[in-house]
Amino acid sequence: MTDTGMRRLVVVSNRLPAALKFVDGEWTVKGGAGGLVTALAPVLKNRGGLWIGWNGAFGAEEESKRLLDEFSGEAGYELKGVPLTEDEVKKYYFGFSNEIIWPLFHDLQTRCRFDPEYWRSYLEVNFKFAENVARMTSSEDFIWVHDYHLMHQAFFLKSMGVKRSTGFFLHIPFPPPDIFLKLPWRQKLILALTEFDLVGFQTTQDRYNFERCLEMLAPDAKVSGEGAVVSVELRGREFQAGTFPIAIDFNQFDGMARDREVAHEAFRIREALKHRKIILGVDRLDYTKGIPERILAIRELLRLYPDLKGKFNFIQIAVPSREDVDEYKDLRDEIELLVGRVNGEFSIPGWVPVHYHYRSLPQNELTSYYAAADIALITPLRDGMNLVAKEYCACNVNESGALILSEFAGAAAQLQEWAYLVNPYDLEGVAKAIHRAMHWDIEERRDSMKNMRDQVRSHNIFWWVDSFLQAGISKNLDDFPSVETVRFENN
Ligand code: UDP
Repeated sequence: MTDTGMRRLVVVSNRLPAALKFVDGEWTVKGGAGGLVTALAPVLKNRGGLWIGWNGAFGAEEESKRLLDEFSGEAGYELKGVPLTEDEVKKYYFGFSNEIIWPLFHDLQTRCRFDPEYWRSYLEVNFKFAENVARMTSSEDFIWVHDYHLMHQAFFLKSMGVKRSTGFFLHIPFPPPDIFLKLPWRQKLILALTEFDLVGFQTTQDRYNFERCLEMLAPDAKVSGEGAVVSVELRGREFQAGTFPIAIDFNQFDGMARDREVAHEAFRIREALKHRKIILGVDRLDYTKGIPERILAIRELLRLYPDLKGKFNFIQIAVPSREDVDEYKDLRDEIELLVGRVNGEFSIPGWVPVHYHYRSLPQNELTSYYAAADIALITPLRDGMNLVAKEYCACNVNESGALILSEFAGAAAQLQEWAYLVNPYDLEGVAKAIHRAMHWDIEERRDSMKNMRDQVRSHNIFWWVDSFLQAGISKNLDDFPSVETVRFENN
């Protein structure tokens, strides 16, 4: 057990922000990408904290420790691995987390496979994680658990008699009762969440959904208070439930978009596309992101407004995700078929409407695409937040872009006043929104983008961490002196 005498921040998540890979006969470690890492790495770096999670490999424990220690030195915070077996990853991660909770919490319950083996494995792995957390931390630390894979951490820590102050943040949506109640283990799961000292959600709607489910499954629960954080009393104990919309490092994206190389690359993209209007979609290839529906909306746009032929390009960047899972392979095939169909139907000499990239882009290249795009078309069927929407605003330094955003993305709660909100299932509605955005008055467009940028700038990642920590450990916030420093440096 570590005892530094000072409260540390300990992050616990399924995956570490670095993955081990066996390449050309030797183990290597590589920093990962994605919303959570983008969000937390700069913050931990500023306070020398600890991150506990799975290293992404099987076996190789000695190598893992050595490489993670090396990586910790560079990252500026400690990384410690929790070893998992192939069977655990299959049942707890691919099974319970991604075949049950992920679809269910995104309102897609018909995709769920409620296998009791998955549930048992989920509990076993959560227990294993909790044992590691207990061993690697002290009662002084604040344990911040992330996401739906590890909802039983506080429950198991308590059942082992380990006292820790704990917070939990759910990155994905929390469903309404009619959907949540379909989960066979609904009561055990929601009661496990009540064992944290603080439970955080992306939007107030998610938090209401949680409160309504709790009131149905534990009728003695009493919610009191108003505002972003409320108190819940249940069976003699009290915990807090709050709304903390996750954010981005605004200055990092804004700064990158102003970089000469990035700006030059953005110009090159526009030139290659003959300065036609650029509509951009950027997503992990996931069925929650609504990519097929979006391509169909482009088809609808061209059917409704044939004069737009040759006047725009839709660029879809699809980042490979869960490539070993059949459902994701099928989705990729479906998307590629649709891209082919739409391009087949509407292409004219020198022009194809849809440019499809199936790969992950380095951040500077992604920033150039953001900076080059006239319209960001972000239409998930359901999304916890959607950081891409915020990154697009942060990179729009000339304030002339338009954001078309699904009303079912968490980001809509913060940006709804200024974005074009659409229902991603309403293809005609999306097509009409694109048409309107293309012909939007420049002054109004600037005004909207300016407001969105102000919102994303002021509610940045440092604000997010500060809000969560204030709610989680308000009395001891001084134990993290760098929070204030970081916040002001970055504003
Ligand atoms: N991203 C990336 N490379 C790419 C495309 C996206 O690193 O080629 C990042 C993007 O910058 C964003 C994250 O992936 O930070 C996606 O986060 P989001 O919340 O939009 O969706 P998630 O994938 O977490 O569901």
